[in-house]
Amino acid sequence: MKDKYGRTVTDKKHWTCKDCKKDTFLSSDIDYYMVTHELWKKYGVGEDMLCISCFEDRLGRKLTKNDLLDCALNEINDYTRKIRKSKRN
Ligand SMILES: [Zn+2]
Repeated sequence: MKDKYGRTVTDKKHWTCKDCKKDTFLSSDIDYYMVTHELWKKYGVGEDMLCISCFEDRLGRKLTKNDLLDCALNEINDYTRKIRKSKRN
């Protein structure tokens, strides 16, 4: 079975936030997002998952639209969609 993002539902372990252990699968509307490859390489956790607040903690600031990839995922997510529409750079 696949969810609306095309993820296999049984693949749950992959969706646990590496830092706070929050289940980002269940809160996926907020915590499914994509940042630039450079940023993820520097602050991210490779193949694992970070919720948005833990990623921002690692980053030491809030996400801005230059941090986010121009992709459909960031449009599905209310939080990143608002950032992308804002003037915050
Ligand atoms: Zn977290």
